[in-house]
Amino acid sequence: MRKGTLVVVSGFSGAGKGTVLAQVLTKRPDLYLSVSFTTRAPREKEQDGVNYHFITREEFQARINRGEFLEYAEYVGNYYGTSMQVIREKLEQGIDVILEIEIQGAAKVREKLPEAVSLFLVPPSFEELSRRLHDRGTDTEATIQKRLETARREVKEIVNYDYIVVNDTIDRAVEEVLAILTAEGCRKERRLHLIEGV
Ligand code: 5GP
Repeated sequence: MRKGTLVVVSGFSGAGKGTVLAQVLTKRPDLYLSVSFTTRAPREKEQDGVNYHFITREEFQARINRGEFLEYAEYVGNYYGTSMQVIREKLEQGIDVILEIEIQGAAKVREKLPEAVSLFLVPPSFEELSRRLHDRGTDTEATIQKRLETARREVKEIVNYDYIVVNDTIDRAVEEVLAILTAEGCRKERRLHLIEGV
């Protein structure tokens, strides 16, 4: 059976990754969106096991020690990580998997699995990013400032991604992500087995 494609999606905090990916999933329910582990406190409306697996730092450290993460990173004072086992199972079953992770984690995934496809989602401008983070109303001013500083540093890493998606309007960003997924599915590596005599 064909293995699934691993798709890594990164973007500045507030670039709209969550909103865009939620809509992509309604159009492509066959995709699996990985649920990460984090030591961050749940935001209002976030559910354990749905948005994240919320765990303590001790539990996170124990999972690191047991080698359970495909990747993990510290971001604005909290740990975030992707379970190796779940991802491996899905890919083996031929299911395409989306990881919504930050830049350091994405770099580790590319190192371990060079066949992964990576997308970086950007807002139309930094002013717009700041406005979106404030409008979201979920973080303190200090956290927002940290997230904006992090974003300015992260700009240099974008060159390491395969695709850049500009989230100007959500519909257009969703369309672009879907187009990338479709094109990746048409790669010769995924199609040659369909043709006799190649
Ligand atoms: P937030 O706290 O806003 O939910 O997430 C903060 C950042 O952590 C986002 O850029 C998000 O993509 C990233 N993130 C979420 N899960 C993971 C993960 O499992 N690994 C890594 N490296 N980053 C993650």
